[in-house]
Amino acid sequence: MFDLDGTLILSNRKLGSYEAIPGAAEALGHLDDLGVPWIALTNGSAYASRVQAPRLRDIGLPVPDEKLFTPNSVAAKVIADGGYERVLVLGTDGVVDALEELGVTCVLPDGDHKGCDAVYIAWHPDCSMPHIHAACEAVLDGAAFLTASDVPFFATKEGRSFGYSCAINGAIARVTGVQPQPTGKPSEHALAFIASQLGIAAQDVGVVGDDATAEMQMARVGGAVGIAVTSGSTSAAEWEQQPPGKTPDIVIGNIGELVERLGLR
Ligand SMILES: [Mg+2]
Repeated sequence: MFDLDGTLILSNRKLGSYEAIPGAAEALGHLDDLGVPWIALTNGSAYASRVQAPRLRDIGLPVPDEKLFTPNSVAAKVIADGGYERVLVLGTDGVVDALEELGVTCVLPDGDHKGCDAVYIAWHPDCSMPHIHAACEAVLDGAAFLTASDVPFFATKEGRSFGYSCAINGAIARVTGVQPQPTGKPSEHALAFIASQLGIAAQDVGVVGDDATAEMQMARVGGAVGIAVTSGSTSAAEWEQQPPGKTPDIVIGNIGELVERLGLR
């Protein structure tokens, strides 16, 4: 499983353009040649896979729509499994479209959101105080508090950028005293989803990523293999200083070194 930002690509802060990390296309192509199954799971929730995957292909990465997943993909399953029928979504149109395509009934904070039984916080750059107010009221009324990501940072070309959903989650948690349940990495929901998509046990998944919390903590907690890269938000020196719950099994410079370091060449 490959992370996107900092692992396969670097985007600019406003998510307007992408750049492939050197060697990424070759590494994915090599895995395909070897018949090693792989998927990409980003914690970015702004766009549906069918919107984002073509953009990745435009910069030369051979990522089919059906191999790219977002926290919205996992959220749709968590929402279905939880029997939630009306979900208050704090997110962009892209988030709402992705959920609705997956069968979720979404309601918006500016509209009639009474009686929702879950709240889902995702990429929402236009969040306002009334939106936070609506989410807090729903959570205090007993709605489940789900989020795409509760990780504070992601890697961009300009350096570390902060995750809007994490900031919004913090406001809601502070007011309600309820902690969010992430559907993206490092949640157990995400690792179970990845293993199921790959058709293998969680312990056999290699989790490749640049973030100690999103990817390495998920690998450690779920017993998967953690493969850290230094091409994103965490340097080689920072990887050496991680606490036991976030240490990688292997550290590589970038994705271009993966095939060789795993002895697959
Ligand atoms: Mg990343």
